Amino acid sequence: MEKLRVFTAAKIRTMDPGRPEATAVAVSGGRIVSVGSLESMQPWLRRSPHEIDDSFAGRVLMPGFIDPHTHLRLSGTYMGLNYVGPIASTDPEGNRLEAFPDRASVIEHLRSLVTKHKAGPDEPIVAWGYDPGAQQGHLDRTLLDEISADVPLWVIAYAPHIVYTNTPMIKLIGVDKDSRIHGLGRFPDGSLNGWFIETEATAVASRPVRNLLYKSGFGLKSLKLQGQVAVASGVTTTADMIYGVESFEREWSDHQRAIDAGDLPLRMLMVPFESRVRKEFGDDFMEFYSSMKERATDRLALHGVKYVNDGSYPSMTLRLNFPGYLDGEEGLRGEVPWQDMVERMLPFWKNGIQIHSHANGDETVDMTLDTLNALQNIAPRFDHRFTIEHYCISTPAQAKRLAALGGLASVNPYFVHYRSKIHADSGFGPDRSETTARLGSLVSAGATFALHSDYNLVVAPMHPLTAAWIAVNRLGADNETVVGPGERISVERALRAITVDAAFVLRKDDVLGSIEAGKFADFTILDDDPFEVDPFKLKDIPIRGTVLGGEVNLRADEA
Ligand SMILES: [Zn+2]
Repeated sequence: MEKLRVFTAAKIRTMDPGRPEATAVAVSGGRIVSVGSLESMQPWLRRSPHEIDDSFAGRVLMPGFIDPHTHLRLSGTYMGLNYVGPIASTDPEGNRLEAFPDRASVIEHLRSLVTKHKAGPDEPIVAWGYDPGAQQGHLDRTLLDEISADVPLWVIAYAPHIVYTNTPMIKLIGVDKDSRIHGLGRFPDGSLNGWFIETEATAVASRPVRNLLYKSGFGLKSLKLQGQVAVASGVTTTADMIYGVESFEREWSDHQRAIDAGDLPLRMLMVPFESRVRKEFGDDFMEFYSSMKERATDRLALHGVKYVNDGSYPSMTLRLNFPGYLDGEEGLRGEVPWQDMVERMLPFWKNGIQIHSHANGDETVDMTLDTLNALQNIAPRFDHRFTIEHYCISTPAQAKRLAALGGLASVNPYFVHYRSKIHADSGFGPDRSETTARLGSLVSAGATFALHSDYNLVVAPMHPLTAAWIAVNRLGADNETVVGPGERISVERALRAITVDAAFVLRKDDVLGSIEAGKFADFTILDDDPFEVDPFKLKDIPIRGTVLGGEVNLRADEA
């Protein structure tokens, strides 16, 4: 065994119910050898050469936080475009970008970009970050034609489930009112309204701007920035939940390069997008899984399969049961026809590949539960860990059914705080927008769940302590109103959902998620104990950095 390194701390919250608290953890070769106190681990220390590291003596250690659903590289490609979002952001290298508070300010900005536009008439202006909820209404072809009838305009929403275009852009994309593409938006008279909604249509809309999106290298550049964001928020493991949208090979090698260069201090699980897997490998997809198994390391590995079956909460494109949307909108189903879902998932299910299925609206949750039920009837399985991703608008009855079918939920709680007020009046109405992320119902139903951020593709930070703070307090944007009070959960349960339960959702709880002998030495370094601070202050606990496989990564202003 390599020389032991023993980290001491004011307190270690292990998240291991058997030994919940400790003051020292001994590490060797990136893994935990012993947890307890300097006294209790003497049987190890007497036998092995060791050094004591007291640099965290005044701090609290927790298991490294796990954010089980992010899009670090893909969001980086968007962050390099012209920014039109509702909150201040940064470009892929961390330079600050100002916020646009409303639709009028976005339109004015696009107009100024058109005035400055030097390129030829076929070169589009490409922008990212529009937020139809926060910025007061969708864009459409008529509005964008008023900005320019000559320069093609391409604006993708912050949650990139919808692209808005003007007439010259529609021509460039090469569709017209007779085109039959899933997700092509129309005015009531049947003419195109400039919208391209969901994966199939947004992929079509993206073809003429592929070079602007992907050739710039923003994705790779952004990984360094995202690595710093992860360290500052205490995250040590995440899953890229739409691997393969650009290229399986390029995305993998960018992550490998960033990890090799020491720029991405994270464990990355890459979850391939089913439509891409089918397109590229057809029925031979299991060969892809076996070949990727050989390339897997502790830091970068293929995991599961991802389906996207409706739109998003912030772009108001999810699918709702009765009584539907406030203004009669309908949202959109994903590109896999729902009637084909069982057939499409069955081979993955039978091969033991974990299914992560995006469902934001309650209609989509119903379809997903029906599908899981059918899969169980055809080929019964224990410990399948079928996971509903996002689980925004749901009912207590659905929580019970999910638990009964053995399913899990990876929930985005950020909208409770950041968006429930916006969507009470825009989109979903107060009842359903306020009870988004029904975590209390999941607890009562006995379901296991994780909390995730979807960073940086919804208007929320990647910050697991903020996710836990929201789950515990459910304060609206005014920091006063409690929204959906019965759906609040305990501090203990919220902290499990960003550590050991998040590891369970990613089928990594054998090696991650708690501080136990044998697991990887991944820790988050905190100033205060989340179990002891006022729960209203959970999100404000200073985070000093992380330890990943025994290697310390302090946040930039600490190092
Ligand atoms: Zn996502």
